[in-house]
Order: sequence, then structure tokens, then C-alpha cells
Amino acid sequence: MVLIKEVVIGSNELTITHLQFADDTILFCEAKWLEVVTIKRILRCFEILSGLKINYHKSVIAGIGVKEVMLQSFASRLNCAHQRLPFKYLGVPLGANPGVVIDFYNRRGGIQVWNLEFRRPLLAWEEEEVCRLHSFLINASEMRATKPDVWKWKADPSGVVSVASVYKRYEFFLGSVRKMAVVVWNNCAPPKVKFFGWLAWQGNVKTSSFLQRIGILDASAIVGCVFCENEVESVNHILLFCPFVWLLWSHIMKWWVSQWAMPNTMEGLL
Ligand SMILES: [Zn+2]
Repeated sequence: MVLIKEVVIGSNELTITHLQFADDTILFCEAKWLEVVTIKRILRCFEILSGLKINYHKSVIAGIGVKEVMLQSFASRLNCAHQRLPFKYLGVPLGANPGVVIDFYNRRGGIQVWNLEFRRPLLAWEEEEVCRLHSFLINASEMRATKPDVWKWKADPSGVVSVASVYKRYEFFLGSVRKMAVVVWNNCAPPKVKFFGWLAWQGNVKTSSFLQRIGILDASAIVGCVFCENEVESVNHILLFCPFVWLLWSHIMKWWVSQWAMPNTMEGLL
């Protein structure tokens, strides 16, 4: 018996029952009293089991295409406030029309200063990225309300991405022979990730076989792979050949909807 019906959104018919981040939660259901009261009962069970208390005065109920009277009746029975869309979730207006960049730009007074605000202090590498973004924005071409926002691949005059244009651009920046030091250091990854990439390329990741080779672990120490326990824990094994790690890479490729052949060297991987 389905007591709570999820919402279906977008052309891909994505179904959502809840959104949760840190201590903020949004629960979705149909605008039926039975579904609303079922959620209330589940939350009451949660209170009894966990000993935690839900503050309904801090909670709101919002309706999409729901009559005000109905929303008010749900709110009074749940003992919480009611609200119309858009409302803010994690500081982002939910249910608002995102509009186009020119609207946002005009709301800000149309001056060439993008005063970006962030919800937390930025790390050093993030500040560098914001500086880069500002330099892009200052040099960006003038915005016109009559032209719709579109994605455009600047490396090709047609504006469409093609393998040939990606290769040309790649060759232009990195040269026809890949300079590994450039690949490892000249990218947007956080410094510690770049450093790990460099260690991996140099074969200096502190694996147990590496530590044994430099005398930190003695000759009798177990230097087997912590994942599969079948092979010696070397850089190539833990980053490429271990069946466990191979599965992980396969999952990542699946998320990216990509197909690849596992490279047999760290250089190939980087
Ligand atoms: Zn292994």
C-alpha cells in the first residue's frame, strides 16, 4: 500500500520523495490529508524512537497548485506555518523562475561589477578560482536582453563541440606531446589532489611496498593490498589493477556515461 505518493518532475520523469541536506529536510507528497497525516505519523514515530523533538513552529508547508484554504487547513492540523512558493531552501529560492542571466544582471543595476556572495569563507584555492571567474566576467561580451542564453563552445566557430576541435584546443595548450608536469599541476584540482597526482606519477605514493623499500617497514612486514589482500600494495596495483579499485573506476565511468579501457600506467591514467 503506497501511503505517500512521490512527485514526478522534469521530462525525465524523475521521482522525488524527499530532499535532505544537513539539518534541512523537504518532504514531498500529494495534497491529500491522508498523505499529510501519514507523514506526521512517521515523524511522530521518529520522535518516539530517537528521543529527538521536531519543532513544527520552525517548519512550513507549501503547496504547488493547491488552494489557499486547503493549505491553511493542513497547516493548522500540523500546527505549522504555511507558505507559497518560492521559498528559500539552503539559501536558494525554490520554485522561483530562474530567469535568464540578463535579468539577474539588470537586477544588480547593470554595472560591470559582479558582487558574488558565498555562504561560507572560501579556501585559498577557491579564492583563486573566483579571481579567475571575475577576470572572465569582466572580459565577457556585452549582454543583450534580445538574445537568449545559450551554451557555446568557443574553440569552434560553429559553437558546437566536436572531437576534432577538442583535440585542437588540447594540442594548442599542451602541445602535441603531453607534458606530464603540466597535466599534473596545471588544472583546477585542489592543491592536495594535484600533489597526490604528482606522487602517483612519480611512483612515490606511500604504499606499504614503498615504505618497505625505503626501510620504514621491516622485511617481515605484510605488504599486501588492503583491499583484495592478493597482491603486493604498489602504486599501480592500488590505483589501477586491484579488482576492488577497478570496480570503483567502472562505477565512476558509469556515472559519467563513458566507456574506457583501463590504462596500464599511471601516466595513461593521468
Ligand atoms: Zn588489491
